Amino acid sequence: MHIDYLMFDRYHIWHPYTSMTNPLPSYPVISALGYELILSNGRRLVDGMSSWWAAIHGYNHPVINQAMNDQISRMSHVMFGGITHYPAIELCQRLVALTPSGLDCVFLSDSGSVAVEVAMKMALQYWQARGKPRHKFLALRQGYHGDTFGAMSVSDPDNSMHQLYQDYLPKHLFVNSLQRRFGEIWRDGDELELSRIIAANHAYLTAVILEPIVQGAGGMYFYHPNYLKIARKLCDQYELLLIADEIATGFGRTGEWFACNHAGISPDIICLGKALTGGTMTLSATLTCRNVAETISKGDAGCFMHGPTFMGNPLACAAANASISLLEDESWRTRVDTIATQLRTGLLPLVNNKHVRDVRILGAIGVVETKLPIAISALQSWFVNQGVWIRPFSRYIYLMPPYIIDSEAMQRLLCAISSALNCEKFFVTPDKY
Ligand SMILES: *Cc1c(COP(=O)(O)O)cnc(C)c1O
Repeated sequence: MHIDYLMFDRYHIWHPYTSMTNPLPSYPVISALGYELILSNGRRLVDGMSSWWAAIHGYNHPVINQAMNDQISRMSHVMFGGITHYPAIELCQRLVALTPSGLDCVFLSDSGSVAVEVAMKMALQYWQARGKPRHKFLALRQGYHGDTFGAMSVSDPDNSMHQLYQDYLPKHLFVNSLQRRFGEIWRDGDELELSRIIAANHAYLTAVILEPIVQGAGGMYFYHPNYLKIARKLCDQYELLLIADEIATGFGRTGEWFACNHAGISPDIICLGKALTGGTMTLSATLTCRNVAETISKGDAGCFMHGPTFMGNPLACAAANASISLLEDESWRTRVDTIATQLRTGLLPLVNNKHVRDVRILGAIGVVETKLPIAISALQSWFVNQGVWIRPFSRYIYLMPPYIIDSEAMQRLLCAISSALNCEKFFVTPDKY
């Protein structure tokens, strides 16, 4: 790419969590196909990130492209107030059928963070409508729910990038992070803190909000399904709503359609995003049960108070329908299992490396946690030179490749990580994000 463009980018355009005075480099991508990103200098990178959990079918998938082209020729967008359309109806039918039972009423919005705002507003309006206004949420430490204010307020209060805003945010309650991992033997008592906090505070609580099984951006941690079952039981016992943020975990990534399926539970509200459109368009959905929807609708307000301009965007819905149709034959299960096996073979031996604190794998997610913070920009550029796109953060080098990746490309990702762990220079001078 011409240097002028890169200079303009550097001086005028914010990138996620990046300084405007001393930005990390941005790599110009001109196209993407299958599991590869193609840089402007012609270099092809094997994608290990699925563009932040989203591009599960890889890039430029012909079925999704065709569906989007067909939709563009009919209409790209039309308002959802007083209007409805096939793409939204078909998508909502699919979501109601696929998600855990009881989640029957769908609210479509534009991004994951907004889906979380919508879920929180539903919980608040539900209690308001019941004539018992309540304002506190209970969340898990090391959780991440997005970057808007409501979502930030239930994300990890200490570790997250949101500490800066603590004085401005509403104060919610947090339960300590979950020690018992996915795959370990459950010990009774692991849930005591959760049950103690709920027992002591239920009268003020609207809902428990959590990422089921996989805590993503807050620490890439996989916890025991019993914890989720007990959270469900406690919410029933104390009549609290359970909000499952499946924005990262939905659509097969953990080896089940939704992470809640590992515990066989249904939340009262679920948030979906990221892979919903196969990583092509920005779209999210918040589903709730009939009871919550009816209670809200019978309240003083008479309706749910939210309505984004681009609600139910037909083009995004068409992409989501095509993406979900690609999952419907369930062949993703074999692909995710194969990726899991490759991740185990390639990453588990790395626990013996002196820089590694821990390695964890669940479904098509592999995480190497290092002891020291990572020199992100140096490691990033080294990965690019190796022909792979892996973007570490903090002390985590992680992979969540598109499901369509083949074993040779997986091997390149895994080799790049194991070689990187033998380079001292990546584990001494941390830079930001
Ligand atoms: C990414 C993410 C969000 C926020 O989604 P955006 O589309 O970035 O707003 C919320 N919750 C979880 C679990 C996520 O991984």
